Amino acid sequence: MTNGNENFTSELLHWYKQHGRNLPWRNTKDAYAIWLSEIILQQTRIAQGTDYWYRFMERYPDVETLAKATEDEVLRLWQGLGYYSRARNLLKAARQITELGHFPTTAAEISKLKGVGPYTSAAIGSLAFNLPMAAVDGNVYRVLSRYFGINIPINTTEGKHTFQALAQSLLPPNEAGTFNQAMMDFGAIQCTPASPACPQCPLAESCTAYRKGLVGQLPVKLRNLKIRERHFTYLYIRCHGEVAIHRRKKGDIWQGLWEPFLSEAGSALSCNSPAKLIRGNVKHVLTHQVIYADFYLLNMNVKPALPDDYIWIKETDFDSYGKPRLVEKMLQILAED
Ligand code: SF4
Repeated sequence: MTNGNENFTSELLHWYKQHGRNLPWRNTKDAYAIWLSEIILQQTRIAQGTDYWYRFMERYPDVETLAKATEDEVLRLWQGLGYYSRARNLLKAARQITELGHFPTTAAEISKLKGVGPYTSAAIGSLAFNLPMAAVDGNVYRVLSRYFGINIPINTTEGKHTFQALAQSLLPPNEAGTFNQAMMDFGAIQCTPASPACPQCPLAESCTAYRKGLVGQLPVKLRNLKIRERHFTYLYIRCHGEVAIHRRKKGDIWQGLWEPFLSEAGSALSCNSPAKLIRGNVKHVLTHQVIYADFYLLNMNVKPALPDDYIWIKETDFDSYGKPRLVEKMLQILAED
């Protein structure tokens, strides 16, 4: 451990001694009781979860009793907690444990239990069996990214590896469980997402984000952008030197810009259409969307009936109207045709 790391860990443990929460499953080394608390707290606040933990411990005081319960009974007791797959997995895992004959004691075995992911397995391993495993969740990402000033996005593979390795390197010898609990409480009470209590924080002096004024910017998370694919069919309707255009409406891309006749049904015009395909499958990439466009030209002698929002303008005037780049591309191709 480097000096900075040692400083972090010792200050954190010191803070935990004074401010750590006294929770019932923290006063036991019973792996069953600890596992139960971890599953309940996966998607539940401590205040609500504590009540359920007592109920389960009372009804099913050990894993053998739980393994004998029916799924209906467990679901009924779980009622109100939500995310019911947790309850079903709880029962399946209880049966796995009884089949095994004892609560698993190694990281590999613990992580084979139904409903137990890397965080939960590290939490159980460190708390019940003193395994040197850092349990890394949102609290840990937040605290470490701020304290060490790390701006690698936490929802990337690189981010996950970086924070896992850093947390692991901070573990004090023989006190992984205490460290994990301290991180959890510190993130929940002191270094909170929206309003961390920095001026009162014992780590403030050495906290990179606080010193550099970056607290509000860390941790960094990449937005999960879903790219939407769209298929545009543009029809350039020409009639005696005029072209039909309309203005794009609110609530979509290119609001207020002008474009020729557009159909977004996703299909090309029928083969019987007198329109001529000028260019097909033109790819246009936007931040959140990819558009595949077909450009058609339709020469008419009589103006066809169009929806009300279309107007006819001189083709030569189209230049002075605001247009999306995709439409400019179309005009360029038309000019070259
Ligand atoms: S100073 Fe603020 S940002 Fe830094 S660890 Fe403390 S609470 Fe978190």
